[in-house]
Amino acid sequence: MNTQLKPWQFNIIVCSVYLLFGLFTMQVLKTLAVWPPAGVALAGLMLFGRKAWLGVASGTCLVVLCYFYLSDLNPFTFKHIAINAATTTGNTLAALTAFWLINRKLKQHTLLTSVTSLARVFIVACIAIGVISALFGVGIYSLVGIEWFNGLYVGILNWSISNALAAIVFTPALYFLWRNWPHPVTSSEFSKLLLLTLTVVLLCYFIFGPAYTAMTLPFLQPALLLFPLLYAATRLSPTATSCMNMLVFFAAWVGSNQGWGYFYYHHPKTAEVTMQFFFLFTLSAVLLIQAVFIQRKKEQQKLTTMLEQKVEERTYELERAKHEALALSVTDHLTQLYNRRGFFEKVNQQFAKYHDAQCTCSLLLLDLDQFKAINDKYGHATGDEVIRTTAHKLTQHSRASDIAGRIGGEEFVLFLPMANNHTAFAIAEKIRADIEQQDIIADNKHVKFTVSIGVSTLQASDQHIESMLKRADKALYQAKNQGRNQAQCS
Ligand code: GH3
Ligand code: MG
Ligand code: MG
Repeated sequence: MNTQLKPWQFNIIVCSVYLLFGLFTMQVLKTLAVWPPAGVALAGLMLFGRKAWLGVASGTCLVVLCYFYLSDLNPFTFKHIAINAATTTGNTLAALTAFWLINRKLKQHTLLTSVTSLARVFIVACIAIGVISALFGVGIYSLVGIEWFNGLYVGILNWSISNALAAIVFTPALYFLWRNWPHPVTSSEFSKLLLLTLTVVLLCYFIFGPAYTAMTLPFLQPALLLFPLLYAATRLSPTATSCMNMLVFFAAWVGSNQGWGYFYYHHPKTAEVTMQFFFLFTLSAVLLIQAVFIQRKKEQQKLTTMLEQKVEERTYELERAKHEALALSVTDHLTQLYNRRGFFEKVNQQFAKYHDAQCTCSLLLLDLDQFKAINDKYGHATGDEVIRTTAHKLTQHSRASDIAGRIGGEEFVLFLPMANNHTAFAIAEKIRADIEQQDIIADNKHVKFTVSIGVSTLQASDQHIESMLKRADKALYQAKNQGRNQAQCS
């Protein structure tokens, strides 16, 4: 339940539930051997914070008052007021200490869901609640001169265990029931829960109920209940498990109190103490097993998420490497233009489009003039620089839709979509003139270089880019023959 309650509201709730549990314990079962209100106190503080201490204190005070009234004793004698004050202080301090132990170690949502938090925090806190309240409760009786019926130390031990066990059993159940209310339950979960509850009730009836003495079958042992409890711990939620724990404990308690069932039959004098020890160990074990399962599940989920993340990262890296490799396979490493393969792949995708739509397009084929001589005179590095500069000029003069490539050592192409022969020739002339103006520095000398260009334009008979390239090559040959450093149309 996530509604924000005001302090007076939650204090009334804690006080009333505490009183209810106390009255039930004293009036209906007429026993103090088990003290469920200790579970109410701790659950109240864990749900509403330390401000709920007032509900715990007033609940205890009212329960002790009722106890005196119900026992026909005057609650307002000095002794009884002292007993009430000490018990109230003891119970409140015990609950606050347990709450502090839990709260400083773990966030609330991790309660019972990790082995360490359960074993080192929750169970320790429950034992603390038992011991502190016992010291105050039993202590005051001795101080005011009332003998504890089975001796001081046994009294402290009994009180400690009864309160600690009550906190272990009732706190988680009340805490989860309230915090997760309303519980969204699927129909399959509901049927599992129903079946489990029926099994538990039936088993309890035979082991702790009136049926036990009549049957006394040797296999009817309280340990049989571990089966449904462990099923809940490993398959169902902490809410379901703690409710089952509560149900089993409650049945055993009522049964023993009524003089029924396994514990009473075998230990008539110490039925409640024997039952308490039995459940202290078994129910703690059930909670521990549940914590192991939840922790393992959480670790598995973490591992799966990590693995998925790794796979995703690797897939992304592979994808990127694939793209890089693909880009490299169509790129010329010296100029970063398309290489021969890249150029033809790219142009072929578009060529059919222009051809079918009867649109025009042109092709420039460029070849550096007397490039061998530049290489010979200034070295390969300078030759490379000339190639890079030419590529740069080509890119500078091309539009976004143009496709430029280096298809041979010092041979370049520029595919010009939507450019007719006239436009293509003008572009070729511009490039040629720009390159003619350009120079690069090698050995402290200005190296000049020129380029010859062959221009071809799409004709209806062209089925492939190769026929355009052939005509451009012819035009280039012509340009070379006519003295280089010029553009020629086919
Ligand atoms: P022409 O004007 O007739 O085209 O003469 P050319 O010297 O340019 O023609 P040729 O085809 O004989 O020479 C091309 C030279 O280009 C030969 C080769 O050593 C050089 N070459 C090819 N690829 C590269 C390259 O990547 N870097 C450099 N520096 N030189 C290259
Ligand atoms: Mg050449
Ligand atoms: Mg050349």
